[in-house]
Amino acid sequence: MHPLLRFTLDLFEQNQPLDPINNAQEAIKKVAIESSPKSTTQGVTDEMLHFRHPRASREVRLGHALVAYEFKRGQRRSIGFSVGVEGLAVRAPKWVVLSEVDAALQSKAAWILRKLQETRERHQRLAEQTIVWQDGATLPFLGQQVRLQLDPQHGFGAAGAELVAAVGPDDMPTLRLSLPRSASTEQIKDGVQAWLMRQAKQFFQQRLDHFAPLLGVQWKKLALSNAGTRWGSAKADGSIRLNWRLIHMPVSVIDYVVAHELSHLRVMDHSPRFWDTVRSVVPDYAALRQQLKHEASPR
Ligand SMILES: [Zn+2]
Repeated sequence: MHPLLRFTLDLFEQNQPLDPINNAQEAIKKVAIESSPKSTTQGVTDEMLHFRHPRASREVRLGHALVAYEFKRGQRRSIGFSVGVEGLAVRAPKWVVLSEVDAALQSKAAWILRKLQETRERHQRLAEQTIVWQDGATLPFLGQQVRLQLDPQHGFGAAGAELVAAVGPDDMPTLRLSLPRSASTEQIKDGVQAWLMRQAKQFFQQRLDHFAPLLGVQWKKLALSNAGTRWGSAKADGSIRLNWRLIHMPVSVIDYVVAHELSHLRVMDHSPRFWDTVRSVVPDYAALRQQLKHEASPR
């Protein structure tokens, strides 16, 4: 490994152990097969893939992909790569020559392409899962689809909404929202999200109370977050932050995130001892972790 390289992966989880950088050809082939053919740019074949950062200032060809990336120099000691929703960003120390940056990009091509492709796929799923904020629309709640219904007759108290169980086997639960039929999409979205956040707070507290004694830790405070890039975080003082959008996900996935953050109250890093701690209360954590990585949270 090039001594100057340092990777940051600012997706849904941070401080993860680095993924092994494996077979570049495989990764590139996979990327090429999954994408639709396009482009007539000079020198570009039909299978050429394009990734463009909105603030791209440099471009590199990595296998069958053209990657336009944001490039910045700064006060740092190593070349750093990060892949986020916008694309690839590269940071380099002032004294590193461009050919060295290019060599670093080539040597990590498989990792970069894999991350770009994963991010693109996640984004596509996200777009597919965008909730339509109108009467009769469906949205996932604790991993199950519920139908939205405007119900101007009822107030439902402070909650402003009520979840009604499904009647028959072909039916789905209904979330009745106390809004007039003329409500705007913005009003519907606000009403539903306020309800979801209340549910999230209650449900997360319940799961924290369930797992904390099993792990022999005490949590002090729960705050809901809305960060696009993180599902949760924990501080040594016992304060926990959880992304309220987790309430869309299956209970097993939420349990994994809760157990993960509580385990940080015992082990602050992601060492083997940390994962042993998580495993002690969520034995199938590895599969759930994968599921979370591939789950796009609806908006
Ligand atoms: Zn963690």
